[in-house]
Amino acid sequence: MLGLMQDVPLLISGLLDYAERYHPDAEIVSREDDGSEHRYGYAEAARRARRLAAALSAAGVRPGDRVATLAMNHHRHFELYFGVSGMGAVLHTVNPRLFAAQIEYIVDHGGARILFVDPAFVPLITPLVPALRKVTRYVVLGGRDALAGDGLPQAVDYETFLAEGTEAYAWPSFDERTASTLCYTSGTTGNPKGVLYSHRSTVLHALSACQPGSFGLSAESVLLAIPPMFHANAWSFPYLAAMTGAKLVLPGARIDGESLQDLISRERATFTVGVPTIFTMLLEHLRRTGKSIAPLTRAGIGGSAVPRAMIDELARHGCTVLQLWGMTETSPLGTIATPTPPVAALPEAERADVLAQQGRVRWGLDVRIVGEDGVPAPHDGKTQGALWVRGPWVAKGYFGADADVLDDAGWFPTGDVATLDGHGYLRITDRTKDVIKSGGEWISSLEIENLACDVPGVRQAAVIAAYHPKWEERPLLIIVADPEHPPTRQEVLDHLQPRIAKWWLPDDVVAVDALPMTATGKVSKIALRDRFRNHLIGG
Ligand code: ADP
Repeated sequence: MLGLMQDVPLLISGLLDYAERYHPDAEIVSREDDGSEHRYGYAEAARRARRLAAALSAAGVRPGDRVATLAMNHHRHFELYFGVSGMGAVLHTVNPRLFAAQIEYIVDHGGARILFVDPAFVPLITPLVPALRKVTRYVVLGGRDALAGDGLPQAVDYETFLAEGTEAYAWPSFDERTASTLCYTSGTTGNPKGVLYSHRSTVLHALSACQPGSFGLSAESVLLAIPPMFHANAWSFPYLAAMTGAKLVLPGARIDGESLQDLISRERATFTVGVPTIFTMLLEHLRRTGKSIAPLTRAGIGGSAVPRAMIDELARHGCTVLQLWGMTETSPLGTIATPTPPVAALPEAERADVLAQQGRVRWGLDVRIVGEDGVPAPHDGKTQGALWVRGPWVAKGYFGADADVLDDAGWFPTGDVATLDGHGYLRITDRTKDVIKSGGEWISSLEIENLACDVPGVRQAAVIAAYHPKWEERPLLIIVADPEHPPTRQEVLDHLQPRIAKWWLPDDVVAVDALPMTATGKVSKIALRDRFRNHLIGG
């Protein structure tokens, strides 16, 4: 017997509709490329998003068609987030930090015929035009004066394009499982893979993320959206903002420490999220200038492991870190480290240890840790195993690929290695491909990196598996040191020794000027392994 409740589909347009009606004047502030500021309320943003949907329709875009963007965080990209998905087309956000060949592959594989591009990325895309044979129309994201898109066929500026539409456009209703957004993982191995989100997955993911046990957001929050809008739905910030009616601050292209501190204090941001690299830059700026980040009280940090020193330093600035784990395939928010009453009641040091992990399992995202023998690992916080996840905002396959990627019971293999403790907190110890297997035992590179970052004078640390004739692999620690006060190899090892198992101690410490980074701002362990694989045998 079916229930007798209304079957209203969960659609992305519904979020903006709500914000337009009930938070019409709540602000969306965006910093433009030229440093100027743009401000408007949800009502105007919604009118322009409808105008955009109508203009896309007039340009021949049909439900299911992909519409690509190559753009940073600003109000026009916000309108695309809602206008494209809202009309039933698929927003394909492309990462401009990738190599030209990857951008070409991704745009072509996505199949968009129309591409919206920031003026700053026009020089990046122009040489690719001959190869992007499916794209027949380019829209430059600016006003009429922005159109320097000389090398782009059929180029038009965004405002002219918008003028073709009408705000009398009414959002269509359709199946909530319809595809809304397409985003490719950075493809550190093989070709990038397209994750195809649906309206349902997007709305449920946002609904869960704003709960008190997650980000705890409301109309009183001021959200600073640092994660790029071309990366995994900007960690849901556009949707979270519209759903709650919170003020939204979009930083544009400038996400250095000085610009962020300035935005936080001028726009009174209370909450933000981002990868650790961003907060490293922010903290460096605060140290240098003695400035404050008030009224920012909470920051969700994830994407790679958050060093304990960062959590402590942000706490001294009055900002609590909620470490989170997730991936493009999980929309991306997975676990978030917020306390439960038993954890809150622990002695301070113990509580800090629990909360410094990668987050707590919350409703909607089920996790399973499986040992090498295929047996589920106990929730003891010690036993490592492969991390599998399942839930309504987890991918089941990739765009344009035939095979599902789930096991028979519907679990998605994350490629991460983790432990789960008795309180339900996850600790990522490695990526499967980065794990160090020494004499058949696993060594956690993340744990050693975290400890190494506590050594005075160590700015960044990465641990990789280096070839060893007897043990197959041994940990090698690579650091970036403070040029003024570089620590010695022995000082680093002396710090680690009492804190880890004896056989986890790195066989060597190498200092480099900078660590190679991926397009998503993570340390590229592939590049490090290529360079240092044979370091221990004199290679
Ligand atoms: P990619 O880096 O491959 O482009 P994602 O951005 O989707 O893809 O990254 C997801 C991966 O980032 C996870 O599988 C995990 O390895 C890593 N990750 C995410 N959050 C954390 C965290 N808090 N600590 C450690 N690793 C993390």
